[in-house]
Amino acid sequence: MKGKAFFIDTTLCTACRGCQVACKQWHDLPAEKTVNRGSYQNPEDLSFFTYKLLRMKEEVVDGKLKWLFFPDQCRHCIEPPCKDQAGDPDAVYSDPATGAVLYTANTKGLDPDELECPYDIPRKGPDGIIAKCDMCNDRVHNGLLPACVKTCPTGAMNFGDLAEMTDLAKKRLEKAREKYPKAALLDPLDVRVIYLVTESPDLYHESAVAAFRPVRGVTRQSALKKLIKPFTSMAS
Ligand code: SF4
Ligand code: SF4
Ligand code: SF4
Repeated sequence: MKGKAFFIDTTLCTACRGCQVACKQWHDLPAEKTVNRGSYQNPEDLSFFTYKLLRMKEEVVDGKLKWLFFPDQCRHCIEPPCKDQAGDPDAVYSDPATGAVLYTANTKGLDPDELECPYDIPRKGPDGIIAKCDMCNDRVHNGLLPACVKTCPTGAMNFGDLAEMTDLAKKRLEKAREKYPKAALLDPLDVRVIYLVTESPDLYHESAVAAFRPVRGVTRQSALKKLIKPFTSMAS
């Protein structure tokens, strides 16, 4: 499998939100009005103007309070269901060189829910166009790192060839398990954005792993069959 990938090691994330800000800066996206909801996470969710969101949760695990940080973004799936569902290469397509899954202005009129993203990523804007992380494909084609990776000060975010990132993820997982027995990689065979987490993924975010997400109460059997994956680990 060719193309590029990210490896995101949440054990190294300090929730500085540099990645979130760098993403906005590179894409010239406006800030959004935020409110205090009793969490350091802001804004509340991904949006047409926020492609990268540092999700923050406070959870009690085994009797200890833990801060769980999850830099959420499009996973650039190896077989993107959103591309299949859009059914229009002029609206959603993959870059054969990098594997980036890209949306165009022709997404206008599509419904983000109908794209059946298992990670709840695409968002519609005021003019009806749908947007999300584009892997900073313009930067990558010019030999630069994605803006979020370039700015990450801790090494939590990594980017490179898919095989290289998969190897790095396996090595970091092995190391992480010495301290965190529950450490695992999320859907590592299906995505180009591989996360390493140390707790159950649902504690970080309800869409941290691919899951069936009912839309307006309608059961989508096709998505269910195709997308449900168990919490996958790659320890060996
Ligand atoms: Fe499409 Fe969602 Fe996969 Fe991104 S994460 S490529 S939006 S299905
Ligand atoms: Fe944003 Fe680029 Fe990072 Fe995607 S790869 S989250 S577009 S900075
Ligand atoms: Fe975490 Fe790195 Fe993003 Fe800071 S820049 S929030 S350390 S992933």
